[in-house]
Amino acid sequence: IHTSTGTPGPAAVRTPTYFLRDLAHAQALADEAFASDGSVWVGEWHTHPTSRPIPSARDTATYRQLLNDPELGFHSIIAVIFAPHAGRWEAAAWACRLGRIAPVRLQLSSSAG
Ligand SMILES: [Zn+2]
Repeated sequence: IHTSTGTPGPAAVRTPTYFLRDLAHAQALADEAFASDGSVWVGEWHTHPTSRPIPSARDTATYRQLLNDPELGFHSIIAVIFAPHAGRWEAAAWACRLGRIAPVRLQLSSSAG
């Protein structure tokens, strides 16, 4: 799948252990991406600067909230978590369904444009 990623947005609040998304910004990015090439929102990414790239209790609660939101209508979401490892950022991807979070293989590549 082709993905595009967004920045947190001007109203996002960030500390090493807490991150509140700028929802209006995220929605605008999602609308833009869909209009330009049909990309759809499949999940979210964030960093764990001081721990392993494994969903925390708060992450799990957030994903459950998203999956339980009838307006969103998600059956599963993809979570990508970056954490420092051996001097660089490593990423782990997780497939989240209600009651189950499983690791998935993640291949990162960069493309122009
Ligand atoms: Zn987290």
